[in-house]
Amino acid sequence: METSNPRGRLRALIGVVGLAVLLAGCAGPQRMPPVVTDATPIPALEPGLPALLGIGLAEGRDEFSLSCDGPCVVTDADSGAELAVLAGGASLSLERRGSLVFWRSAADSGAAARIGLRPRDPAHLLTFDDRLWRGDFLVMPTPGGAGLTLVNNVDLESYLLGVVPWEIGRHGTDALAALEAQAVAARTYTVGHLGERADHGFDLFADVMDQVYKGATEEDPLCNQAVRSTRGLVLEADGELVQAYYSACCGGVSSRIEQVWPRPARSYLLNRPDGPGSGKPAFCAGYGKLLWEQSWSRDQLSAILQRTLPDYYREYGAGTRGRWVGAIFHPRHAGADPLRPGDLLNLEILRRTPSGRVADLALTTTAGTYHVRGDRTRWVLAPPAGSGTILRSAMFELKLDRSGEDLQQVTAMGRGYGHGIGMCQVGALARARAGQDFTAILAHYYPGAKLVRLRTEASRIRE
Ligand SMILES: [Zn+2]
Repeated sequence: METSNPRGRLRALIGVVGLAVLLAGCAGPQRMPPVVTDATPIPALEPGLPALLGIGLAEGRDEFSLSCDGPCVVTDADSGAELAVLAGGASLSLERRGSLVFWRSAADSGAAARIGLRPRDPAHLLTFDDRLWRGDFLVMPTPGGAGLTLVNNVDLESYLLGVVPWEIGRHGTDALAALEAQAVAARTYTVGHLGERADHGFDLFADVMDQVYKGATEEDPLCNQAVRSTRGLVLEADGELVQAYYSACCGGVSSRIEQVWPRPARSYLLNRPDGPGSGKPAFCAGYGKLLWEQSWSRDQLSAILQRTLPDYYREYGAGTRGRWVGAIFHPRHAGADPLRPGDLLNLEILRRTPSGRVADLALTTTAGTYHVRGDRTRWVLAPPAGSGTILRSAMFELKLDRSGEDLQQVTAMGRGYGHGIGMCQVGALARARAGQDFTAILAHYYPGAKLVRLRTEASRIRE
């Protein structure tokens, strides 16, 4: 009986195929055969996974306006009461008044603690800052600050449609497997970071603080396909969700997390050459921006260090981070203040991580010697204004030009782009073009992790 029922057939199919694939770390570029298991979800993850994520699109804005390409409803977000109906294309203005959100349409106005805006028909899209957004809007006074916060409440899969093309770019069909790997990594990152921005009143920022999300405008058909073909799939290891970090280019070798960030080690975040081995160049070796160079005059770098060294000392001088850094400052004279670096005298790389990244950069100024650890070197050695906010990677050599004893110019010559932890996006694209499927790509960058489907998605498919 059941096999004559389409839904029954689907249920039977899931039973046979299972949804978990073991991503074997030692498999190299070869895909391991799927391991058939029960579709066991991640216990720590659910039932806490909300139906809608809250993505912060704006914080501290004095005023803005919203609209919809079809009829939409203005609600009191706390009681759910409908306050007004907007015609398609009509706009809703919002501004903060005291502790309330004041709203005004062409016909009505009012104020409430939190205002919602949702299309009558979810197929319609909302507009903010000339971009289209799936889901609903929530407007509230910015918690602990001035102005308003705008949150886009959107389901996980729709959110990813607005993330994947901005995180890995737009590519041809030969790169589909890399887009699928990116979709799984971004989905895993998303679910793993829910709740970390609760103080702000939402789940994730819509920029590089979390993942770049630009809504439904300029979605990419192939990225959409990659999100849909991996629907609900996330990575799990050691009984918990994988910390699915990724960066643009690993420079040839990825990094263990604890060697560049003050975070605990993870079994799947390792120092791994980006294949394919046998003396061949790494998968990301063809990246046009693989090698980079950054120069500063002594005065330029000295000026930058007046800002970045005190920031580093304040953030890394104590607590867990302080224990990870170790001795951070050795004064040159009694009473030297680490928050007043003075003039730059010398830089020296004292130690590297096994992946070749700078582990200990000794920076000597007239105040003393600072030890800058791991990925933080990228913030301390910030480029001059206009050429990026942080150094492209921590995998670099230093060249010092002196005139006699005086430092004249400092040049960093480096490889790669980003922190180098987890997936190398350029490497993933090259692997896809070499014929690897997304499970093989993920198996390389998160060795030993398992692919599992979120329980909510699995149950949706079963229904
Ligand atoms: Zn790489």
